[in-house]
Amino acid sequence: MGKEQLLLTGQKNGEIVDSLGAPPDIIRILSTGMEESEGLVEMVVFDAGVPDLKDTNSLAAYLPDSKLIVIDLAQAMTQRSWMNERGMLLISNVWFNLLFAALHELAHVSQVMDEPELKEFETLPKEFEDEANRMAHSALEGWMENHVIPYLNEMGRWVEKELKSLFNELYVSMPKIVKQELAIQGTNLVALAEDAARKDNKIGRYDTEESVEALLKAIDAGKVGAKIGEERYLTAAEVLGIGADCSLKKEEAGNE
Ligand SMILES: [Zn+2]
Repeated sequence: MGKEQLLLTGQKNGEIVDSLGAPPDIIRILSTGMEESEGLVEMVVFDAGVPDLKDTNSLAAYLPDSKLIVIDLAQAMTQRSWMNERGMLLISNVWFNLLFAALHELAHVSQVMDEPELKEFETLPKEFEDEANRMAHSALEGWMENHVIPYLNEMGRWVEKELKSLFNELYVSMPKIVKQELAIQGTNLVALAEDAARKDNKIGRYDTEESVEALLKAIDAGKVGAKIGEERYLTAAEVLGIGADCSLKKEEAGNE
């Protein structure tokens, strides 16, 4: 596969290969992961349109034999599960795709560290995928405690350019959506409250019109999320149902 070819070009160990311009925060997370990997990761490659990842609809992969992690920036643009399931806006969706992918692959690295025989699997058994997802979720939670979602111009050259050109196109027909996206840049807000509340987001807090109304009121009262201009938003922690914010919202939404 293409990834293997990169290895033949004589790259040094401990290297980040990034010709497109990946988000600096994601590079940092993976550099640290590589340093702490006890030699299980020797290279991290950022690319766009990696055929093997496209074929399997994957954002990223860890190849223990090659000691390689590869992240596909194009997949991060096209996969929309945070939007579809949680109501996140586009910038947040792209960001959480990349962050989660990085944390998920690092979780696989620590699995291999604990159980070296995992290297022998062509495809990991489901229990290990589930475990990697749980580990990535809790690492994501930790990240959110002291970070906000980066501004567009902090997302690396490639993502910034892709998102900006998309917004330029969208602005003609849907200026409101673009304004909403840009209004929450550099904050921990990720979704329009009403959109997120009406998603079947598996949290089940807003299953009635009354609970949605109560949520919107709680935002107006400054207890949950935030109001910017005329729009009400929720934070990443609220949308993902983690952290202390969640119980407040549950109470406010009168859904117990
Ligand atoms: Zn995996």
